Amino acid sequence: MTGELMPATPDIQPSRLQITRNTNPATPPPSNELVFGRTFTDHMLTIPWDAVSGWGTPEIKPYGPFQMEPSATVLHYAQTLFEGMKAYRDEEGKVTLFRPDMNMKRMNNSARRIALPTFDGNALIELIKRLIRIDKHWIPKEPGHSLYVRPTLIGTQKAIGVGPPNEALLFVILSPVGPYYASGFKPVALYGTTEFVRAAPGGTGAYKLGVNYAPGVLPQKSAAALGYAQNLWLHGEEHYLTEVGTMNMFIVFTTEDGSTELVTPPLDGMILPGVTRDSVLTLAREHASGKNKLANLSGQLIVSERSVTMKEVKTAAAAGRLVEMFGAGTAAVISPVDRIGYMGEDIHIPTGEDGMGPVSRPIWTELVGRQWGTIPSEWSVPVTE
Ligand SMILES: *Cc1c(COP(=O)(O)O)cnc(C)c1O
Repeated sequence: MTGELMPATPDIQPSRLQITRNTNPATPPPSNELVFGRTFTDHMLTIPWDAVSGWGTPEIKPYGPFQMEPSATVLHYAQTLFEGMKAYRDEEGKVTLFRPDMNMKRMNNSARRIALPTFDGNALIELIKRLIRIDKHWIPKEPGHSLYVRPTLIGTQKAIGVGPPNEALLFVILSPVGPYYASGFKPVALYGTTEFVRAAPGGTGAYKLGVNYAPGVLPQKSAAALGYAQNLWLHGEEHYLTEVGTMNMFIVFTTEDGSTELVTPPLDGMILPGVTRDSVLTLAREHASGKNKLANLSGQLIVSERSVTMKEVKTAAAAGRLVEMFGAGTAAVISPVDRIGYMGEDIHIPTGEDGMGPVSRPIWTELVGRQWGTIPSEWSVPVTE
């Protein structure tokens, strides 16, 4: 076959979906007993891939264990990547996803980075909607609850050689989750981590790959032993701030001339391009430009994607120019920070009455409104009518 073009193999085809109903469905537990990521719905979606025949038959079937050969490459070389998004139910019972196109784009970028197969993101969104419709009664009715959607792609080649896998499996599972904060927004303390790195230049920090997460567990345990909730990942000799645990980070300064500056580190290859990060930046920029003013946010707002060092944070704190700091991600949406342990001392960060600061509060209100559908926006994608 030399000289011939490789024929394109089939992409994901929603029209081929096969559904096998769970004949022994579970009763969803009371919402106050939900622990993040421990409970799963009755069904899952699976789509196999191989190098010869491309993406195979999508199946929705009862949630349950996989069979896998011990030689499967995912078990040896972390050929695995994932996504995290949420399905919300509004007051009328309508279910929506929030900016799922961003997750599909990122999932394909992750796949490309570790030579796993890419796919048509719209086709996967269509199939995820079918799965959610079948299990939508698992979304708790209580306010603030949602269904966490976890798409995952693994290499399943049965050969322990390092190389592009010739077999893969994409699957999606669903987990009902409660509001991240049961009682208000509890600010967290961070440990400025200098002895471990999360990401490095040219590394994989900008991709949602499984390989990035197991090495973060030990540093998290060390931080917890010192009384801090999360690691503040610092980079380089200058101790640039990068991310907070598994969230993007934002910091707010009062500038020399009295303006308010909202800062997050740039996407330089070490920062995970979060959907929440992008949403926070977009809302803040639309406010700053006057396109869409946020309620209860007055004064001049400057929005910057730029590097911040711990020295700048210390100087601003000492001068009373540190306004607030927060993490941003799908699980918590916005997570305020009240303290950073750094080189043997604690830097204190102001927090508002309910934990949220003067910039994060109006952004959070708009963002959560758009997620829950109380504020109509193109970011909210209908799953059911
Ligand atoms: C998932 C993730 C985020 C947040 O991304 P969202 O799309 O906003 O949920 C930030 N940092 C890391 C390291 C992550 O894994």
